[in-house]
Amino acid sequence: MRTPIIAGNWKLFKKSGEAVDLVSQLIPLVQNTNGVEIIIAPVFTVLPTVKPLIANSNIMLAAQNCFWEEEGAFTGEISPGMLMDAGCTHVIIGHSERRQYFGETDDKVNRKIKAAITSGLTVLFCIGETLDEREANNTFNVLRTQIEQGISGLTKDELAKVVIAYEPVWAIGTGKTATDDQAQEAHAFIRGAFANLYDHNAAESIRILYGGSVKPENVKGLMSQPDIDGALVGGASLKADSFAAIVNYRI
Ligand code: PEP
Repeated sequence: MRTPIIAGNWKLFKKSGEAVDLVSQLIPLVQNTNGVEIIIAPVFTVLPTVKPLIANSNIMLAAQNCFWEEEGAFTGEISPGMLMDAGCTHVIIGHSERRQYFGETDDKVNRKIKAAITSGLTVLFCIGETLDEREANNTFNVLRTQIEQGISGLTKDELAKVVIAYEPVWAIGTGKTATDDQAQEAHAFIRGAFANLYDHNAAESIRILYGGSVKPENVKGLMSQPDIDGALVGGASLKADSFAAIVNYRI
């Protein structure tokens, strides 16, 4: 019912030549994959390089961030309309690295999500607790607040353009994956939060990806959980063979 999504976040890696190599290797490895939406999120500068390469493939293009204004005196920013112009269909918003290093608050995340949806992008909205928050038994409160503030003001129709990425901060880039049970527990909580905020239908429709050290070795167990609808993959998306193995998790 919910089509799985496997998305690769390239973070601050891959100049144009490396991006061309990675995408050229990836395309043949996933070209026969059906029933999975495949997304890659390179750095801004290589979006126009990658776009024509994937034009006739089953891979979609995302950016890793955007600003909330469409244009103006905002030096250094990139607007959702500009991402559409560069061929993006998706944008990652609220990644924990942006929250941690670039002062991205729930309010800024909310503004970015609204602007991105208005421009026609689908949002990969990242949420997740830190280790301290988990150890203090605060995980659910943190997730609830991030959800309520991040999607504040969104209609049910607008929510259809949102995909959630649950990424426990302690599992990102650390090699520590949440266990299948820990991930499922959080995903079920998140789905329940959408049932409370919207309705049963909205909660059943929204796709919730897991992120945090997903690899070919652990993807199957995670994807077998009833509320896990895909993965946001960092490190393992930087090599064609490991990302393709994750995309092809059913094989
Ligand atoms: C990420 O960048 O969103 C991520 C989950 O990274 P990694 O897979 O490397 O933990």
